[in-house]
Amino acid sequence: MSIKVLFCDVDSSLVPEESEPWDWSLFAKLAEMIRETGRNGKLRIGLCTGRPQPYVEALMKTLGITLPAVCENGAVLYDLHTNRAEFGPGVTSSKIHALNRLKSMLIDRLPREFPEIIYQVGKEAQLSLYCARPERLDAVMSLISHFAEQDPELDVTLAKTNYYLNIDLRGVNKGSGLRAVLARLGIAREEAAFLGDSSGDLTARDAAALFTCPSNATDAVKAVADYVSPYPVTAGALDIIRYLAGS
Ligand SMILES: [Mg+2]
Repeated sequence: MSIKVLFCDVDSSLVPEESEPWDWSLFAKLAEMIRETGRNGKLRIGLCTGRPQPYVEALMKTLGITLPAVCENGAVLYDLHTNRAEFGPGVTSSKIHALNRLKSMLIDRLPREFPEIIYQVGKEAQLSLYCARPERLDAVMSLISHFAEQDPELDVTLAKTNYYLNIDLRGVNKGSGLRAVLARLGIAREEAAFLGDSSGDLTARDAAALFTCPSNATDAVKAVADYVSPYPVTAGALDIIRYLAGS
């Protein structure tokens, strides 16, 4: 069975994670290639990211992506055709309330105790913290773990990317979100590939038949990838799409 869809992580996979403008010519090439492979039916591209729905919607429209997206690391699913966003499998109202208690603690204490750590606004059922010096995120990880121990309804997992600490509801991840989207599309695991670069992407490893990564991926990701592009980030994504579309 051949690969029909490629779901992609965004940061450090399609575009740089650093907070600076993207290389427009490379990004334009990516948008053109995604539109072309979609038009000729060779490969359809989807997004599977920790980013919030409004960011994902804008990126989908820019890149010409129409497959449903996994946002907030599986906590939110978004359909562009119907403009409908909904919570992903495993997200319940009581879990969101518990996460909101953690959120309240963080927005209260971070500015006083960890002023370099930025709370990322705009998420509904998952939290992310940003720090330009990511080693500083370790201290806040202990604070979160200690807080979670005191709240029996709060059950989260913590995962670092290059610059972010992601706080996910346990069992809600890119893999659970991707499985839900593939089931909705009627696409078998054997027809799906994934592109990712960091540890959070490994939750999608089993949801897709083929796992690919750019050259900048972590060693742990490269070790389990079926295809490692010789190129980083956007150039890597272009290479991977060409590789899968057979052109
Ligand atoms: Mg990434």
